[in-house]
Amino acid sequence: MKKDKAVQANQQLLQAIPKVDEFLGWVDEECRAPLRLVKKAVRQVLAEVRQAILAGAEQSEAALTRQALMPLFEKRLTALMSPCFRTVINGTGVVVHTNMGRSLLPESAMAGLLAAGGRYSNLEFDLRTGKRGSRYSLVEELLCELTGAEAGLVVNNNAAAVLLCLDTLAKEREAIVSRGQLVEIGGSFRIPDVMQKSGARLVEVGATNRTHFYDYEQAITEETALLLKVHTSNYKMIGFTSEVPLEELVALGRQRNIVVMEDLGSGSLVDLSRFGLAREPTVQEVVKAGADVVTFSGDKLLGGPQAGLIVGRADIINRIKKNPLNRALRIDKFTLAGLEAVFRLYLDEAAALAGIPTLAMLSMDYAAIKKKASRLLRLLKKAGDLPCRVASVDTESRVGGGALPEQGLPSRAVALKPTSVSLNGLESALRSGPIPVIGRIDNDSLLLDMRTVADKEVAELAAAIVAVCKELP
Ligand SMILES: *Cc1c(COP(=O)(O)O)cnc(C)c1O
Repeated sequence: MKKDKAVQANQQLLQAIPKVDEFLGWVDEECRAPLRLVKKAVRQVLAEVRQAILAGAEQSEAALTRQALMPLFEKRLTALMSPCFRTVINGTGVVVHTNMGRSLLPESAMAGLLAAGGRYSNLEFDLRTGKRGSRYSLVEELLCELTGAEAGLVVNNNAAAVLLCLDTLAKEREAIVSRGQLVEIGGSFRIPDVMQKSGARLVEVGATNRTHFYDYEQAITEETALLLKVHTSNYKMIGFTSEVPLEELVALGRQRNIVVMEDLGSGSLVDLSRFGLAREPTVQEVVKAGADVVTFSGDKLLGGPQAGLIVGRADIINRIKKNPLNRALRIDKFTLAGLEAVFRLYLDEAAALAGIPTLAMLSMDYAAIKKKASRLLRLLKKAGDLPCRVASVDTESRVGGGALPEQGLPSRAVALKPTSVSLNGLESALRSGPIPVIGRIDNDSLLLDMRTVADKEVAELAAAIVAVCKELP
């Protein structure tokens, strides 16, 4: 009997749910949102209350009034109207953060992007001849100037660069790679899989930890088209290890007339070891060592837009340029504009270090980071009582982007220790705010590493934290 009554009440309540048209009549006429989003928000709210009633969580007609439903509607509509692709504050201290857009562009590159987007350009128009030109020629000279290579080419990303090179140079033939270099970069980019896609036959040599010159030498056959070296930038092998230096592979390649390629991954044009980072070969050094083709990313240590850069011997680059696959992997005009601006900064190393955010963040000294942390702390203290204890603490930043995985850079963070909610609750609240703030949980605090927070973001970050804290219980 009792249960029947409940079911009946439930039915009555379900029938009392307002109809879509009735709900629409409640919406302010001044509402500027597109009608389809308004309707979508209404349907979402109605579905939500129906669910709640069916689940027994909602048992009163009071929940179905305009007064009760409109705030739910506003919230849904705001969510539907907010851009999906948004700015966030990166407090993780990971400089080249692949999930947060990798490299930030210098001002000059941003200006280039704006112009390329809003105005016509000579993208594929030769201003000297008045005839059709090539988009690649616009940055090739600078790329060669900076790397010392004879020729160069730019494609969509480094994964595309590797695929295009293998497809051009080793399709249906053999490419020799050390077992210690068959890496996975992430996002399902694995060297053996890319090889397969390109139609090159992978010939693995050596052992996981050690590969010798004679391993390559003995694996060479009539079918060998390529000796491929992959820079293992995203993991480190320690202990009993050895790999064959590029110079020796180059000598072997020359002797047997086989192309030598190096995938540098996060290629850098400046030696960052003077900023306390581990010594990594620069692109220029790899070119100078005689690699016939070198590939690297545009948006890792280079600090530019997403792109894959290919440099090397002119005859080989010409073959790559002519590959029809190149057309499918080509860069857009925004990339070109951004890349040229970044290359121009590299013409003067001091300008590059100061003007390219990735380099500026990696080379930023501890004192400057500490100052930013103090500023944030002061702003937070000024805001009065917060449900968090705040402090400035030492931490370590990371390079990211699969480069120098073990390397920590001494840095300073603002640590937030919530007093009224759990640490995960605070982390999630900050992540869900109007400007999402992403930090790193470390023991009992949420750390905001100030290396990756720009000077001009500090006040915004303080305001975001205060706003989120005010909403906490
Ligand atoms: C990152 C990386 C790639 C892929 O580069 P994307 O620009 O991300 O496509 C390829 N090879 C190596 C060694 C890498 O580190």
